[in-house]
Amino acid sequence: MQKLYLALDIVCPVCGAQPQEKCKLTSGAPRFESHVERKYIAKDHNLKQSTTKPPPAKKLPKQ
Ligand SMILES: [Zn+2]
Repeated sequence: MQKLYLALDIVCPVCGAQPQEKCKLTSGAPRFESHVERKYIAKDHNLKQSTTKPPPAKKLPKQ
């Protein structure tokens, strides 16, 4: 089974929060939600993992 990356699994490019750390506001207080960029990178990781796509369905020759 492939690992699904969550925003918390990667370093946030915006505020620099380490894995398993919550994103921070500029004041240093934790944000309720991770930065969008962080979520996006996690999603991107998940997409790159699924490289084993099933081959396109072949069209059956007409008879
Ligand atoms: Zn962040």
